[in-house]
Amino acid sequence: MTDALHHRSITAHAAALRAGEYSCEELTRHFLARIEKSERLNSLITVTAEGALAQARDADRALRQNGGGAGALAGIPLVHKDLFCTRGVLTSCGSKMLENFISPYDAHIIEKLGAAGAVSLAKSNMDEFAMGASTETSYYGAARNPWDEARVPGGSSGGSAAAVAAGLAAAATASDTGGSIRQPAAFCSLTGIKPSYGRVSRYGMVAFASSLDQGGVIARSAEDAALLLREISGFDARDATSLREEVPDYPNLLNGGGGGGGSPPLSGMTVGLPKEFFGDGVAEDVAAAAQTAAEQLQKLGAKICEVELPNSAAAVPCYYVLAPAEASSNLARFDGIRYGHRAAKYADLNDFYERTRAEGFGAEVKRRLLVGAFVLAAGYYDAYYIKAQKLRRLIAEDFARAFEKCDILAGPTTPQTAFALGEKLGDPVAMYYSDIFTNAVNLAGLPGISIPAGFDRAGLPVGLQLIGRYLDEASLLRAAHQFQLATDWHLRAPENFS
Ligand code: GLN
Repeated sequence: MTDALHHRSITAHAAALRAGEYSCEELTRHFLARIEKSERLNSLITVTAEGALAQARDADRALRQNGGGAGALAGIPLVHKDLFCTRGVLTSCGSKMLENFISPYDAHIIEKLGAAGAVSLAKSNMDEFAMGASTETSYYGAARNPWDEARVPGGSSGGSAAAVAAGLAAAATASDTGGSIRQPAAFCSLTGIKPSYGRVSRYGMVAFASSLDQGGVIARSAEDAALLLREISGFDARDATSLREEVPDYPNLLNGGGGGGGSPPLSGMTVGLPKEFFGDGVAEDVAAAAQTAAEQLQKLGAKICEVELPNSAAAVPCYYVLAPAEASSNLARFDGIRYGHRAAKYADLNDFYERTRAEGFGAEVKRRLLVGAFVLAAGYYDAYYIKAQKLRRLIAEDFARAFEKCDILAGPTTPQTAFALGEKLGDPVAMYYSDIFTNAVNLAGLPGISIPAGFDRAGLPVGLQLIGRYLDEASLLRAAHQFQLATDWHLRAPENFS
């Protein structure tokens, strides 16, 4: 347990900033000093110290003038995943292709958090174009897990997770196409929420697989995640799939629902445990921790039932047809003419394209582009792409059926805890299977959250994933918050960064 300044919650910072306990500039300098000392984690690509200090001074001014009127995020130092466009700052996507891309505009998420007064400390490391589960495919080198520096922090938002876990920022933005918020949150003992598809605008978030991509946050607690999610959610005309739906007041719903008249806080909520999530291939300690967490939810008043997601086994294969197909289309724009790195020497136009893309993309991205072009080719389209679309529907229907019996689902976020650096790099399929419990959630467009649920015998964090009905982030956050009021897993910090 730690009460160190850099591991405090957003709510605690907000109160201390208002009470004058420390200024936002002091807090920002504190994080910047920690960032400098933690370079070995390689969690960040660009540190924007000057900009951060300027924002911090602005926030201090706003807090002085406006105090309580300034929002809860005023003066809160964050890091942003390096696929969110940030005006005047490198937005590399972890790729050589974009190593010189200074974005001329801010992504929706960046704009919203900036307007709320949050401070942007740095851009975080990530798998190249968000393709990976370990942050090892980054052009800028692998990031490390603060809980065990010989292990990966997960991916693709591993830089965001490592930075928050190490106390280099109060929280971070991240994106999730097949698990990239939840899996790194699980590996680093943090709370990561992937909202429903369409809840948060994708404007300015570099596209990987547009029908699956969703921006969200990695934070220290469900309460912090609720504050951030409320800020970034909502309709944005610049994203054609953004929803015109009212945004619930998440922070104020954390204690809602049960609890009235002295009944336990989660009474009235039914939690389904998908039997496929507790089967073979799940490490013993992980399954045990998830089971214990489910019992904790029961103690809090929830009803527990078993449910089935019979098409679960199809999720990874289905995802690895659809995501590469969309990626091959999205990444066509990086041709050295419209966007990106440009080959210096070439014979003719075709040679120029070939060299540009051969030089600019790393191995994993190339693998996806090849698979994507293959499954979309005339002779294979029906056999692969269309078939995967049909599977996607079956997977979504599984969830719909499960939600007839329960309100949220719970299970391990990942089958194993953080693996060693290099362990899965030579075996892409093994890497893909670390998202076996998260891929399906993106295919169905549902919200999912990972919360700290204990440690395995090696002392590595275990994550519990909660999955909700479409647009029901509020139930996930409420269950997560009540769980965190009753447990202290989320309050622990890695020894070397306490
Ligand atoms: N690990 C998955 C992949 O490599 C998911 C990545 C993500 O969510 N961005 O595609």
